[in-house]
Amino acid sequence: MVRRRHVSGPFLYPVRDIVGHPGEMREFESTVPAPEKWGEGLVAVAEGASLDLSVRLEAVHEGILVTAEVATEYVGECGRCLTDIVEPLEVEFQELFGYPGEEGTDFDVQDDHVDLESLVRDSIVLSLPFQPVCQPDCPGLDPATGERLTETAVPEMRIDERWNALAALKATTQPDHDDTATSPVVSDTEKS
Ligand SMILES: [Zn+2]
Repeated sequence: MVRRRHVSGPFLYPVRDIVGHPGEMREFESTVPAPEKWGEGLVAVAEGASLDLSVRLEAVHEGILVTAEVATEYVGECGRCLTDIVEPLEVEFQELFGYPGEEGTDFDVQDDHVDLESLVRDSIVLSLPFQPVCQPDCPGLDPATGERLTETAVPEMRIDERWNALAALKATTQPDHDDTATSPVVSDTEKS
């Protein structure tokens, strides 16, 4: 006895009531966890990450036209400075699921549902950046020290011209102060 597969699962959408009724449309909103880690590069959508799905199913002559938007976030490392990053990601796709026997479609209506999991996964994976950055102008790492260059990228605070005289005074007095502070120590070490 063949047990009929029950239509359940976060990426299965029922189409029974619109199959064969061109012009009929159904819309669904749902939030589901990513069933596994999606992405193999520096960044990926983590297993369990929330996927906000907005799906429209339209019956057309040849099958069911699926239009979907997915919003989630990816995590990983900046490709330049290796800082941990979390960035929002939004993708959308449209695909025709053909009725059984229809030619020329990559996906088919199965029994009374359409399965969007591979489409959701592929559209997300293909949208992940190959070279993710923590910020568009991330300066990366110093090639000599391996330190992040982010701090030096911040423009230095401009000093008001009215402070120049004080700065000059500080510059001239500083060396004298240093000499008096260090000379006793030098003479001490010479004695001992
Ligand atoms: Zn960075």
